This record gives sequence, structure tokens and C-alpha cells, in this order.
Amino acid sequence: MLHPMFDNKTARWLKDQGYRFPPRLVVSLSGGKDSTAMVHRLLSWGFPIDALLFFDTGWEFPEMYEHLELMEKKTGLKITTVTPRKPFNELLKRYRWPDGQRRWCSREKIDAITKWINQNFNKKEDYIIHCVGFALDELHRTDTKEQLKKGQVMYPLLNDFCCDPSAAKHMTMDDSMTESDALQYCHDLGYTWGGLYERFSRVSCYCCPLKRKRDLRTIYWYYPDLWERALEMERSIPESNKYVTFIGRESLQDIDARLSKVGEHLGTVESLVQLDLFSAVA
Ligand code: SF4
Repeated sequence: MLHPMFDNKTARWLKDQGYRFPPRLVVSLSGGKDSTAMVHRLLSWGFPIDALLFFDTGWEFPEMYEHLELMEKKTGLKITTVTPRKPFNELLKRYRWPDGQRRWCSREKIDAITKWINQNFNKKEDYIIHCVGFALDELHRTDTKEQLKKGQVMYPLLNDFCCDPSAAKHMTMDDSMTESDALQYCHDLGYTWGGLYERFSRVSCYCCPLKRKRDLRTIYWYYPDLWERALEMERSIPESNKYVTFIGRESLQDIDARLSKVGEHLGTVESLVQLDLFSAVA
């Protein structure tokens, strides 16, 4: 099925603007449930995906890399990995842990993806549409109005696939996907992420300082090797650059000390994860 986005009207519109037909679709793939669902949705709609870009922070769960391999097998598409200027472990020593105000990691991602696009497409001739996997629960994040107006961003989970802005008003949200729809869709396709979504509601870098308390506890108990790796990374931040950004401005070392103290007093790992250990030892 050829999607209506690629109809004669669209072709004329692009030609009038001086672009080649068809437009180029670039998917930014985090590997999580939403972007995975988005890729399969686009394929089921018959969209040719021109680039599937995965930004590798080097801080991913090992299960994520296995998931990406499986995705390549299931979709038949090649995932292109883009990387930051320098490994995140090195940038960490210079910039400290990222936080709400200084999300240098996000900046690195945008820069790496932009650089790849600039090197691989001719922006004067190729009309590039970025596909973003925001789900219905994340409508508030779809705030790129200017880009939307120009038709440069689309949100396939929201059924937003128009590159002709005048057609946007005819769109329906009926088939939009929520985050749980996206997860179910992926499960139905046979994806499991090695159980990551049974332990976390969102899957992101294992050492992300923006993680919720519950997620930090889960990493502490279920992924001790990754926890230790994150502690090691924190120790590598020069003293002059130390600035703690985990929960309540604590360092990971503080949290580690707190959790290990509780571990001495309480029972099995399974039961510990259920408890609010942060408040228990506050
Ligand atoms: S998950 Fe956290 S650490 Fe990783 S890129 Fe996103 S904000 Fe940065």
C-alpha cells in the first residue's frame, strides 16, 4: 500500500517548493517501546524509511543492543549508529552528570544526528521529515509548532503523517497509540527487551541521573554490574568538577551507601525492591 502522503498533491507541493519527490523519512530510534512501535507502524503503512538512526550513548543496557539486532532482523532495515564527539565517559569528566539545566547528553545527540543528516542528504533537494515516536500520553511534548507548520516533523504514533500542513486539519487521532498500546504492539510483534519493561516503565541510560528513585533501586538490586560501573564513572569525575545531581542532590555514592546499609538489615532482594528504601533510611 502506498501511503496517501505520497500522492500527486504532495508531489506537486514538493516540486513547487523545489524539492525532490518523495520526501526523505528519518527516524530517530531510541530502541524503546515507542520508537520501536513507530518503525513498525511506518512499515505497515508502506512508508519507505530512508534512515533509521540510533544514537549510542554507550550507557545503554546490554539488552538494548540485543533488541536492536532483533529489530534489524524483523524489519529487514539497517540501523545506523551515530555516536557523540567523544565517549560519554570522557565527556562526563568534563561536564559532570547531566541534569535538568545542563543536558549536554541531549545536545550531543541532536548534534550527532544533525551532522549525519547533513553529510548524507542534500538539504536543498531532499525534503527531510523527522519521525518522532511521541505517544498520545505525551501530547504536551509535541511542541515543535514551527517545524510542524513546515511539515518537517511527524508523529506516527499520533497518526500525524502530513507533510502538507493544509491537510493536517483532516487528521484523526482515532488510531493514535498510548504508551501502553505501543508496548503491547511491540510485545505482539515478539519483542521482550530481555524483561526491561517488566522492571522499568521507561528504558533509558542505566546511569541517567534523571531516573526515579524506584528505578535506581531496581538497578541497584537487579543490575549490580551496571551499578558498579556507574559508581566507577562517578569516581572518575575530577573533584573540582564534582556536583551531585542524583535524587535530592545526592551523589550515586551516597545512594549506594544508603541502599547497602538497608541491605544489611533486611531480607531477600525480591522483597527489598518492593520497599521504599529511600524513605526507610532517610
Ligand atoms: S537517558 Fe538521561 S543520561 Fe541518557 S541521554 Fe537521556 S537524559 Fe542523558
